[in-house]
Amino acid sequence: MDKIKMTTPLVEMDGDEMTRILWKMIKDELLLPFIDLNTEYYDLGLEHRNETNDQVTVDSANATKKYGVAVKCATITPNAARMTEYNLKEMWKSPNGTIRAMLDGTVFRTPIIVKGIEPCVRNWEKPITLARHAYGDVYKNVEIKVPGAGKAELVFTSEDGTKTSEVIHEFKGPGIIQGMHNTEKSIESFARACLGYAVSTKQDIWFATKDTISKKYDHTFKDIFQEIYEKEYKEKFEELGIEYFYTLIDDAVARVMKSKGGFIWACKNYDGDVMSDMVSSAFGSLAMMTSVLVSPSGVYEYEAAHGTVQRHYYKHLKGEETSTNSVATIFAWTGALKKRGELDGNTELMNFADALEKATLSTIESGKMTKDLALITSLKDVTVLNSREFILAIRETLEKELA
Ligand code: NAP
Ligand code: MG
Repeated sequence: MDKIKMTTPLVEMDGDEMTRILWKMIKDELLLPFIDLNTEYYDLGLEHRNETNDQVTVDSANATKKYGVAVKCATITPNAARMTEYNLKEMWKSPNGTIRAMLDGTVFRTPIIVKGIEPCVRNWEKPITLARHAYGDVYKNVEIKVPGAGKAELVFTSEDGTKTSEVIHEFKGPGIIQGMHNTEKSIESFARACLGYAVSTKQDIWFATKDTISKKYDHTFKDIFQEIYEKEYKEKFEELGIEYFYTLIDDAVARVMKSKGGFIWACKNYDGDVMSDMVSSAFGSLAMMTSVLVSPSGVYEYEAAHGTVQRHYYKHLKGEETSTNSVATIFAWTGALKKRGELDGNTELMNFADALEKATLSTIESGKMTKDLALITSLKDVTVLNSREFILAIRETLEKELA
């Protein structure tokens, strides 16, 4: 069989620990035998980030802007322990944070659904994709602990010195105050990333805030979404037969629980923090969750939602057997290859990515899986495989499917 050709390079960001081990196995066993893989490689492993003073992260984000599609392996975000472990010159920032800031992107997380790993919510038949606004609100707040009686005010001083103020509260005793903000620019980017992603994945999108209570703050989110939808997306949505739906956050929660899934749920920063953990745990496992960063200009970076699986890596280093789930990392590759194929009009590449996804899922459905899934599956007669055996089992299924 001739290998599939690629016209434009895919930006490849290698990473750390156990996921770096899986990364190589996936390439060697599931990609390179079938594709003339055309990637521009960036090593975001912590050692190389340290050697390059983190320049490699910036370069990889610039390459992503240039080519439009990237696939990223999980990476270590350094903390005090990593400073000594890797003898770091500096506590480098989270690569994901750096890339997200440079691409001005929004992260969409989607569970991978497979027979035998059922969501706790019985009526969820299709994945629910969560989109979380990643700037401002309570994550950039300022707070004061009020010691005793006094007046709290909210004051804005414009550049020309004009002041606008509101009394927050006349305190009769001790209390607390919190100030937070967001910017129209950031909310607009968020809205465009969300509405654009709905178009690109042909799914309905829900957005919810508490605008009945927060008549200026949350209402601004609602208005910006509505305006951008009407002006830039309404026609495309109607053509595709998909819907933009706004409701109150408490109503959204009730509807999500009763839904069948199959839509995108856009959330403000805090709601997204809380709801993404709820949705992902209800769907089963972090190892079955993909993540894609989408910029408002239409640039895509695919990855797994989990980290570098450090505990398994240390076992691997000691020569012990690991059973680490590679599904989310495989789907990061297939997501990126499909998007590359779509942008280049390369149907062969898109079909291959679909076949690899199907082979991965049918391998699990046939009872062959890693330990994390074996612990929660409803299937009987399960074979628990180690990290390599699982990837080899997928290869076998894939070869049968392609033959
Ligand atoms: P983690 O790598 O997600 O792993 C936490 C635990 O979840 C593992 O110990 C394992 O449980 C289970 N798990 C996660 N992924 C799994 C998989 N693919 N297969 C089987 N089990 C899996 O989180 P962490 O240990 O807190 O973080 C490790 C490193 O990852 C940190 O340095 C952190 O900075 C980094 N991180 C990176 C990203 C990213 O690049 N996107 C995201 C999060 C964290 P058991 O041990 O019980 O088997
Ligand atoms: Mg959280």
